[in-house]
Amino acid sequence: MSKIAERYSSARTTSNLKSEPRTRASAADTLAAAGMAGQTQADALLMWSVCFGGKTSQKLALIDSLTHKLTQHMFRRQLPGDPRQIAKAVLAYYLHARCDSCDGVGFQIVPHTITRSDEPCPTCGGSGKPHPPADEAFTWLHSWVSKLISIAGTSIMRKMESQMHL
Ligand SMILES: [Zn+2]
Repeated sequence: MSKIAERYSSARTTSNLKSEPRTRASAADTLAAAGMAGQTQADALLMWSVCFGGKTSQKLALIDSLTHKLTQHMFRRQLPGDPRQIAKAVLAYYLHARCDSCDGVGFQIVPHTITRSDEPCPTCGGSGKPHPPADEAFTWLHSWVSKLISIAGTSIMRKMESQMHL
Protein backbone atom coordinates (compact mmCIF):
# COMPACT_ATOMS: atom_id res chain seq x y z
CA MET A 1 0.00 0.00 0.00
CA SER A 2 1.23 3.50 -0.74
CA LYS A 3 1.97 5.92 2.05
CA ILE A 4 -1.09 7.97 1.16
CA ALA A 5 -3.26 4.87 1.24
CA GLU A 6 -1.94 3.86 4.68
CA ARG A 7 -2.61 7.28 6.09
CA TYR A 8 -6.03 7.32 4.57
CA SER A 9 -6.92 3.92 5.99
CA SER A 10 -5.80 4.80 9.49
CA ALA A 11 -7.49 8.17 9.40
CA ARG A 12 -10.68 6.95 7.84
CA THR A 13 -12.33 6.12 11.13
CA THR A 14 -11.90 9.64 12.45
CA SER A 15 -12.25 11.74 9.34
CA ASN A 16 -15.53 11.76 7.50
CA LEU A 17 -15.63 12.49 3.79
CA LYS A 18 -19.03 14.09 4.18
CA SER A 19 -19.46 17.74 5.04
CA GLU A 20 -19.04 18.63 8.65
CA PRO A 21 -20.87 21.91 9.09
CA ARG A 22 -19.27 24.79 10.98
CA THR A 23 -15.80 23.35 11.42
CA ARG A 24 -14.37 21.81 8.30
CA ALA A 25 -14.68 21.81 4.54
CA SER A 26 -15.60 18.43 3.11
CA ALA A 27 -13.38 16.51 0.72
CA ALA A 28 -15.93 17.33 -1.97
CA ASP A 29 -15.48 21.04 -1.23
CA THR A 30 -11.73 20.63 -1.45
CA LEU A 31 -12.08 19.01 -4.84
CA ALA A 32 -14.42 21.80 -5.91
CA ALA A 33 -11.78 24.33 -4.91
CA ALA A 34 -9.33 22.47 -7.16
CA GLY A 35 -11.57 23.59 -10.02
CA MET A 36 -12.93 20.29 -11.20
CA ALA A 37 -16.26 19.89 -12.92
CA GLY A 38 -19.01 18.44 -10.75
CA GLN A 39 -19.16 15.02 -12.35
CA THR A 40 -15.39 14.61 -12.22
CA GLN A 41 -15.37 15.46 -8.52
CA ALA A 42 -18.11 12.96 -7.85
CA ASP A 43 -16.29 10.29 -9.85
CA ALA A 44 -12.97 10.97 -8.12
CA LEU A 45 -14.59 10.53 -4.71
CA LEU A 46 -16.39 7.39 -5.85
CA MET A 47 -13.16 5.96 -7.25
CA TRP A 48 -11.39 6.70 -3.99
CA SER A 49 -14.11 5.00 -1.93
CA VAL A 50 -14.24 1.97 -4.21
CA CYS A 51 -10.45 1.57 -3.92
CA PHE A 52 -10.81 1.32 -0.16
CA GLY A 53 -13.57 -1.25 -0.15
CA GLY A 54 -16.61 0.87 -0.84
CA LYS A 55 -20.12 -0.50 -1.08
CA THR A 56 -21.35 -2.47 -4.08
CA SER A 57 -23.75 0.38 -4.84
CA GLN A 58 -20.78 2.78 -5.13
CA LYS A 59 -19.00 0.39 -7.44
CA LEU A 60 -22.05 0.10 -9.68
CA ALA A 61 -22.49 3.88 -9.73
CA LEU A 62 -18.85 4.25 -10.70
CA ILE A 63 -19.19 1.70 -13.51
CA ASP A 64 -22.27 3.57 -14.77
CA SER A 65 -20.40 6.84 -14.83
CA LEU A 66 -17.26 5.40 -16.42
CA THR A 67 -19.43 3.67 -19.04
CA HIS A 68 -21.09 6.98 -19.83
CA LYS A 69 -17.76 8.75 -20.23
CA LEU A 70 -16.27 5.94 -22.30
CA THR A 71 -19.33 5.74 -24.55
CA GLN A 72 -18.84 9.38 -25.55
CA HIS A 73 -15.15 8.84 -26.20
CA MET A 74 -15.71 5.67 -28.23
CA PHE A 75 -18.39 7.39 -30.28
CA ARG A 76 -16.11 10.35 -31.07
CA ARG A 77 -13.24 8.06 -32.01
CA GLN A 78 -15.44 5.44 -33.70
CA LEU A 79 -13.94 2.70 -31.53
CA PRO A 80 -15.43 -0.80 -31.52
CA GLY A 81 -16.49 -2.67 -28.36
CA ASP A 82 -18.99 -2.66 -25.52
CA PRO A 83 -18.29 0.34 -23.25
CA ARG A 84 -19.79 -1.26 -20.14
CA GLN A 85 -17.72 -4.44 -20.51
CA ILE A 86 -14.59 -2.37 -21.03
CA ALA A 87 -15.40 -0.16 -18.02
CA LYS A 88 -15.80 -3.27 -15.83
CA ALA A 89 -12.56 -4.75 -17.18
CA VAL A 90 -10.64 -1.51 -16.54
CA LEU A 91 -11.94 -1.25 -12.97
CA ALA A 92 -11.15 -4.92 -12.25
CA TYR A 93 -7.68 -4.46 -13.71
CA TYR A 94 -7.06 -1.31 -11.70
CA LEU A 95 -8.27 -2.81 -8.43
CA HIS A 96 -7.27 -6.45 -8.62
CA ALA A 97 -4.81 -7.33 -11.40
CA ARG A 98 -1.51 -8.69 -10.05
CA CYS A 99 1.65 -9.66 -11.92
CA ASP A 100 2.11 -13.43 -11.50
CA SER A 101 5.89 -13.22 -11.35
CA CYS A 102 6.06 -10.94 -8.31
CA ASP A 103 2.52 -11.27 -6.85
CA GLY A 104 1.92 -7.61 -7.58
CA VAL A 105 4.75 -6.37 -5.37
CA GLY A 106 6.91 -5.21 -8.28
CA PHE A 107 10.02 -7.04 -7.01
CA GLN A 108 10.58 -10.78 -7.34
CA ILE A 109 11.71 -13.07 -4.53
CA VAL A 110 15.43 -13.86 -4.80
CA PRO A 111 15.60 -17.63 -5.58
CA HIS A 112 16.06 -19.84 -2.50
CA THR A 113 15.48 -16.95 -0.09
CA ILE A 114 12.57 -15.07 1.42
CA THR A 115 14.05 -11.73 0.35
CA ARG A 116 12.73 -9.47 -2.38
CA SER A 117 15.19 -8.40 -5.05
CA ASP A 118 16.22 -4.75 -5.27
CA GLU A 119 15.77 -4.92 -9.03
CA PRO A 120 12.30 -4.26 -10.45
CA CYS A 121 10.45 -7.37 -11.59
CA PRO A 122 11.52 -8.06 -15.21
CA THR A 123 8.03 -9.27 -16.15
CA CYS A 124 6.10 -6.13 -15.18
CA GLY A 125 8.93 -3.62 -14.92
CA GLY A 126 8.08 -2.99 -11.26
CA SER A 127 4.49 -1.92 -11.81
CA GLY A 128 3.14 -5.09 -10.17
CA LYS A 129 0.50 -5.35 -12.90
CA PRO A 130 0.25 -7.73 -15.85
CA HIS A 131 0.42 -6.05 -19.24
CA PRO A 132 -2.94 -4.40 -19.97
CA PRO A 133 -4.84 -5.33 -23.14
CA ALA A 134 -3.61 -3.38 -26.18
CA ASP A 135 -7.02 -1.83 -26.75
CA GLU A 136 -7.40 1.89 -27.35
CA ALA A 137 -10.63 2.26 -25.36
CA PHE A 138 -9.20 0.25 -22.45
CA THR A 139 -6.00 2.31 -22.42
CA TRP A 140 -7.90 5.59 -22.54
CA LEU A 141 -10.24 4.68 -19.67
CA HIS A 142 -7.41 3.23 -17.58
CA SER A 143 -5.50 6.49 -17.76
CA TRP A 144 -8.68 8.39 -16.82
CA VAL A 145 -9.23 6.15 -13.78
CA SER A 146 -5.61 6.65 -12.70
CA LYS A 147 -6.08 10.39 -13.02
CA LEU A 148 -9.26 10.31 -10.91
CA ILE A 149 -7.50 8.49 -8.08
CA SER A 150 -4.53 10.82 -8.10
CA ILE A 151 -6.78 13.89 -8.07
CA ALA A 152 -8.81 12.49 -5.19
CA GLY A 153 -5.72 11.30 -3.31
CA THR A 154 -3.94 14.61 -3.48
CA SER A 155 -6.98 16.64 -2.52
CA ILE A 156 -8.07 14.37 0.30
CA MET A 157 -4.60 14.12 1.78
CA ARG A 158 -4.20 17.89 1.66
CA LYS A 159 -7.46 18.25 3.54
CA MET A 160 -6.53 15.62 6.12
CA GLU A 161 -3.08 17.06 6.66
CA SER A 162 -4.54 20.45 7.43
CA GLN A 163 -7.00 18.90 9.87
CA MET A 164 -4.82 16.35 11.58
CA HIS A 165 -1.34 17.83 11.29
CA LEU A 166 -0.05 14.60 9.79
ZN1 LIG B 1 6.01 -8.36 -11.62
